[in-house]
Amino acid sequence: MQLYIHFLGTGGSWPTVQRNVSAVAIKRGGEIILFDCGEGTQRQFQKSKLSYMQITKIFITHFHGDHFLGLPGFIQTLQLNDREQPLHIYGPKGIKELVYQILHLGYFRPSFPIFAHEVKDGDAIEFEGYKIKVANACHNVPALAYSLEENKRPGKFNKKKALELGIPEGPLFRKLQYGESVEINGKIITPDMVLGKPRPGRKITISGDTMPCRSVVKLASKSDVLIHDATFDSSLEERAREYGHSTAAQAAMVAKEAKVEKLFLTHISPRYKNAELLENEARKIFPNSYVANDFMEIEVKLKK
Ligand SMILES: [Zn+2]
Ligand SMILES: [Zn+2]
Repeated sequence: MQLYIHFLGTGGSWPTVQRNVSAVAIKRGGEIILFDCGEGTQRQFQKSKLSYMQITKIFITHFHGDHFLGLPGFIQTLQLNDREQPLHIYGPKGIKELVYQILHLGYFRPSFPIFAHEVKDGDAIEFEGYKIKVANACHNVPALAYSLEENKRPGKFNKKKALELGIPEGPLFRKLQYGESVEINGKIITPDMVLGKPRPGRKITISGDTMPCRSVVKLASKSDVLIHDATFDSSLEERAREYGHSTAAQAAMVAKEAKVEKLFLTHISPRYKNAELLENEARKIFPNSYVANDFMEIEVKLKK
C-alpha cells in the first residue's frame, strides 16, 4: 500500500503568499487523514493532486486559529460537493463543543454525519491497518502531537522451507502468508514455521506547535518521518520559548534524540522569505533535515 505525505500548509501564525497555515495530509491507499485544518485548506487541496472527498478523519492539534479556523469552510465545501460518508474529527478536550459551534454557524446544517472525538495523552486509536497515538506537546495552550503507526507486517515467506515441508505451491502458500495454519499429510504447519520475523510498518509523527518536549521525543521514537515545529532560527530562541515554539536547531535535536529517519521543519514564521537558514541550522545537528514547503509531496516507502 502506498503512503504519501502532502504538505498543504507549512506557515506559522497567518497565511502568506508563500505559505498557507497548518495542514498536512497523509494519503494511505484510498484514504486521506488530515492533521490540522488552517484557513483555506480546502483551496490548498484543490491546488494539490488530492481529493478532499477522500478524507475520513481530521486530527486537530490545538485550538489556535491557524490550526482549526479552516474547519467551518472545509465542512461546508464538503457538503456543497454532496458528501454523504461520515467525517470524524479528533482533537483535545473541547473539540466536541467546537464542532457543535461550527455546525450551528449561520444557516448551515450538515447533511452528512460528523462525529467529534476528544482524545488525550497516551491514547492509541486503532484503525484498520494502523493506529494513531496521542501525546501531549509543550505549547502555551493545551496541545497534542500525533503519530500514525502502521501495524506490523508478516515476516518474509520462506518458499524453500515450505517446499521442504511438503507444501505444494498454490493456495496453501497464501494461507500461511496470511497467518493461517495448514494441514499437509496429517501434519499441522503453522505460519511461524515458514515466515520470518514480523516486519515493521511505517511511522509518521506530527508534533503540532511545541517547544522541545520529552513526550514528543517519546512519541516520535524511530519514526520514518518527523514533522516538527521550527518556527524560528536560533537567534530567536528566547522568542520561541515565550510563544511555546521551537527553533530549527531544537527540532533537529528532537529528531536526533528520537532516532527518526527524516525530519521536516514546518510552521515557518512569516518573517523568513527564504527558509534555507532554518534548513542549514537543522542539518548541522541532524543532516537528514528538510524545510517543508506547501504542496511538497513525500512518499514514505516500506522498509525491506
Ligand atoms: Zn500555530
Ligand atoms: Zn499554537
